[in-house]
Amino acid sequence: MSPTQSAGQIANDPLLPLFAPVTGLRGVGPALAKMIERVAGGPRVLDLLFHMPDSYLDRRARPTIRTAQPGQVATLAIEVVRQDAPETARQPWRVVCTDGTGFMELVYFGRPPPRTLVPGAKLVVSGKLEGFGDRLTMPKPDHVVPAAHANLLPGIEPVWPLTAGLFPGQLRSAMRQALERVPDLGEWHDPALMRREGWPGFRDALWAVQQPDALPVDRARRRLAYDELLAHQVAMAFVRQRERRRPGRALRGHGRLRAQTLERFGFTPTPSQRQALAEIDADLAAPRRMLRLLQGDVGSGKTLVALLAMLRAAEAGAQAALMAPTEVLAKQHHRTLSRLSPIPVELLTGSVKGVARRNALIGIANGRTKLIVGTHALFQEAVAYHDLALAVIDEQHRFGVDQRLLLGGKGETTDVLVMTATPIPRTLLLTQWGEMEVSRLSEKPAGRKPIRTTVHSLATLGDVVDGIGRALDRGERVYWVCPMVSESELIDLAAAEARFATLRARFGDRVGLAHGQMEPAQRDAALADFAAGHIQLLVATTVVEVGVDVPEASIMVIEHAERFGLAQLHQLRGRVGRGAEQSFCLLLHEDGLTDTMRRRLGLLKDTEDGFLIADEDFRIRGGGDLLGKRQSGLPGFRLADPAQHEGLLQMANRDAAVLLDRDPGLGSARGRAVVGLLHMFDRGTGMRTLEAG
Ligand code: ADP
Ligand code: MG
Repeated sequence: MSPTQSAGQIANDPLLPLFAPVTGLRGVGPALAKMIERVAGGPRVLDLLFHMPDSYLDRRARPTIRTAQPGQVATLAIEVVRQDAPETARQPWRVVCTDGTGFMELVYFGRPPPRTLVPGAKLVVSGKLEGFGDRLTMPKPDHVVPAAHANLLPGIEPVWPLTAGLFPGQLRSAMRQALERVPDLGEWHDPALMRREGWPGFRDALWAVQQPDALPVDRARRRLAYDELLAHQVAMAFVRQRERRRPGRALRGHGRLRAQTLERFGFTPTPSQRQALAEIDADLAAPRRMLRLLQGDVGSGKTLVALLAMLRAAEAGAQAALMAPTEVLAKQHHRTLSRLSPIPVELLTGSVKGVARRNALIGIANGRTKLIVGTHALFQEAVAYHDLALAVIDEQHRFGVDQRLLLGGKGETTDVLVMTATPIPRTLLLTQWGEMEVSRLSEKPAGRKPIRTTVHSLATLGDVVDGIGRALDRGERVYWVCPMVSESELIDLAAAEARFATLRARFGDRVGLAHGQMEPAQRDAALADFAAGHIQLLVATTVVEVGVDVPEASIMVIEHAERFGLAQLHQLRGRVGRGAEQSFCLLLHEDGLTDTMRRRLGLLKDTEDGFLIADEDFRIRGGGDLLGKRQSGLPGFRLADPAQHEGLLQMANRDAAVLLDRDPGLGSARGRAVVGLLHMFDRGTGMRTLEAG
C-alpha cells in the first residue's frame, strides 16, 4: 500500500471536516466567507483555524470601581444609574454606572449608547479604563452584556488580523465552531520530543491559541509552528529520497585531462576546492544521480572546480555541459574553460547561428564534442546530446526546486551540479534547497588582497567624484551602481541616466552605461567595452550583479547603499578585488541613516565573510529578498517563520530524516499520522511524485 492510498483511507476521513468550506459554519454566508478567505488565505475551516492571532487582550481583571486603575483593560459588573446626553454636538454621551464601591462613566462619541443601557440595567462591561480628572471612564466599551450572560464574555480575547467589514465577533463565533470540528487526531510527533518540550496535542494547541484560557500561549504556538516545519521537512526528505533512489551512472576517469588542466592553471587548488572536488568525485563515481550545490563566494574559484568535474565526465567518454544565465557569462566561461581545458570546448548560445550552430549541434549529437558551455539554449528540444553525463548550472539561485530538477532532465541519469555565488543561509538551505547536498568553498585563493570598504554620505559626493577622477587618470576601472528599487523602473532608470549624464559631462567618453531596460546587444556591448578597457567607468543598475568578470576593475561605487540588502551589497562588492592590485568599495548613503542601517553598512565594512553576511541579512530581511520577492517570511509558511524558528527548523530536519529512515513508507502508527499532517499542510505532492518517480 502506498502512502497516498493510506492517506485516502486513514488520514482523509477524520480530516474531512477541516477541509470543508467555512460556509458550512453557522452564521457564515458567502460574503463573510469571502472576507475570512481574504484574511486566512483559504476558504476552508482549516484555513480559518490556521489564521493566527497577532496578540491577545486579557480581560480577566475583574476589579471593583474603587480598585480599578486607569490604563487597565478590565471587566466590571455594574448597574446603570443614568444617561447624560451631550449639550453640544462635540460632547459625548455619558452613561453613569455604579457597583456600590463608587461611580464610573461609559463614554460614547458621536452616537447614543445602546438601548440596553437604561437606568437599573445590570451589566458586565469590558474595555480600556481611563482617568478623566477624578472620574473613572471607559470610552467605547469593547463588550457590553447583560449580567445574566456574563459567561459570553471572553476572558482572553485573541486579536486577529482583520479586513475591512470583518469584525472580531464574527471571527470569534466562526472560530469557536471551527475549533469544535477539530477531531482528536493521532499524535504525529515523537513522544519523547513532546515530553521534553511540554507541548500540547494538536487539537489542544489550536484551542489554546485560538480560544485561550491562559497566557502565554507560546508552547502551543511553537507546537503548531513545528507541525508545519515537520510537514515541510518530511516532504523535502521525500523528494531527496526519490532523487537518491534514481539510478545514475558511475563516472570514473584516468585523471590525465585533469592533470593537464591543473598544469595550465598554474596554481594549487585551495583546500576547500580540493574538498569540494572530492565530494563531487564521490557522487560522480557512485551509481546514483548527483544533485549537489556548490556554494562559494564570488572569487572563491568555483569555475575551476566545475571544469575539473566536467573533465571527469569527458575522461569517462561522456559529455558535460555548463549553463550560464546570460550570454555574456556564457562567453566568459567559454573563454576561461577553453584556456584551461586540454580538449575543445563548444559554445552554444542564442546568438550562435547558421553553419556554426549546425556544426555545434552535430558535434554534440555525435559525441565528438565533450565539453559544452552555453545559455538555456543548451536545454532546448533541438539540442540532442550523445551522452550527457553532467550538467553544471551557474548562478541559478533564483530557480525553484522543480525547475532545478527539470534542468537535469536532458538525460535520465544526468548528474547535476548547481553553482551559486549567493552564500545561502542555513535556514534557506533547509527550506528551499532541501533536495540538494552542499559543498562550500569557504576561503578565497591565497594572495588575494582584501577589498577596502568605506562608507560615505551622499553629501560628500563631490569629494568622492574627485577621488574617482584621480583613479581614472591612473587608468583604473570603476563600477558605479545605481539601485533598482522604486515601484517605477522608469524613475530608477532616470536616476541612473542622470548620474551617467553628470559623470559623462565630467569625464567624457571614458564613461559608459548599462542597465536592464537596454537592448541586450547594446548592454552586452557596453559590458564588453568595459571589459576591454575602452570605457573606464561603467554606470550600471544591478545588471553587473550577475557575475561579470573584469579582473582589472578595482573600484566599486554603490549609490544609495542603504537600499540594498546586505547579501546583495556583498555580491556587488565581489565584482572587484579579482585582480592583483588593491581594490576599493565605496558605499554611498543618504543622510539620516537609522542606527540599524548604520550597523548593517558597518558590518559590510568590517567583514568579507559572505556566510556571516548572509545569515545576518536573512535575520534582518527574513529571506524575502534573497528569493527575489519583496516580502518578509518565506513563501508557503503560515504558522512558522523559518527565520525566527530556526532552531525548530533544524530539529524538524533531523526529525524527518530519522522518521523516514526508520519508516520509509510511513506505515507505522506515527507514520500514518504524519501522512495526515502532510495533507493538512498541502505537502502531499512530494509523496505523489515519489510514486510517479
Ligand atoms: P567564482 O566563479 O567562484 O566567482 P572564479 O572561478 O571566477 O570564482 O575564480 C576567481 C579567480 O580566482 C579566477 O581568476 C581564478 O583563476 C582564480 N583562482 C581560482 N582558484 C584559484 C586557486 N586555487 N589559486 C589561485 N587562483 C585561483
Ligand atoms: Mg563564477
